[in-house]
Amino acid sequence: MSEFIVTIDGPAGSGKSSVAKGVAQKLGFEYLNTGAMYRAIAFELHSKGLNPNDDISGELERITMDYKDGCLYVNGKKVGDEIRSLEVSSLASDFARVPAVRKALTRIQRAIAKGRHIVVEGRDMGTVVFPTANVKIFLTASLKERVFRRMRELQMKGIFLSHKEIEDEIKQRDRQDSSRPIAPLKPAENSVVIDTTKKSLDEVIDEVSSLVLRRIRNEDPHRR
Ligand code: C5P
Repeated sequence: MSEFIVTIDGPAGSGKSSVAKGVAQKLGFEYLNTGAMYRAIAFELHSKGLNPNDDISGELERITMDYKDGCLYVNGKKVGDEIRSLEVSSLASDFARVPAVRKALTRIQRAIAKGRHIVVEGRDMGTVVFPTANVKIFLTASLKERVFRRMRELQMKGIFLSHKEIEDEIKQRDRQDSSRPIAPLKPAENSVVIDTTKKSLDEVIDEVSSLVLRRIRNEDPHRR
């Protein structure tokens, strides 16, 4: 088996990153967080004074993005927690609507995954970037739970915001990500939808890992 791709899509706070990381670790797969790529590119373009409506094609051509040992590098510089703020979340969603940005990142994501056993997470992994992935998962959770998780995650990074600020940002981003004309957030055909609201992280990791293992062993009747 030269390549095996597991896609995990879902809205903000549905548990994608933690589940994808956990599954990758459990199965010895690599892991790619494509949200970080959208965040990093938005951060870079914004810090150059650019907006999503500007002509950014020249700038996009100059930006280099590398992925080594699970770390993302933009123009040779390692990307860190600067992309995790609420401001960058919404900037990422704004720049993610730009066709040239999606085209550039889709190409890089496919190049990274080529020939690997990898878990990729984002919004359009199963629908657009890897339509023939071996296993496709779509995670959901109630808004209340997603706000709570995002709040806890930000607190761990020293960012303290009110429940309302986080809820407003998540709702706005869900709306924008689901309604954009290109690569909107939605479950891919043949995806397994898992509601994680009442499940522990370990439960979801086990569920997804078992699904992947069954498919590797060809025991799953729904395999493609
Ligand atoms: O996953 P995360 O919340 O870090 O993603 C930040 C933003 O990047 C999302 O709200 C979405 O607009 C964009 N994104 C995307 N396609 C992906 C991953 C992220 O449009 N595959």
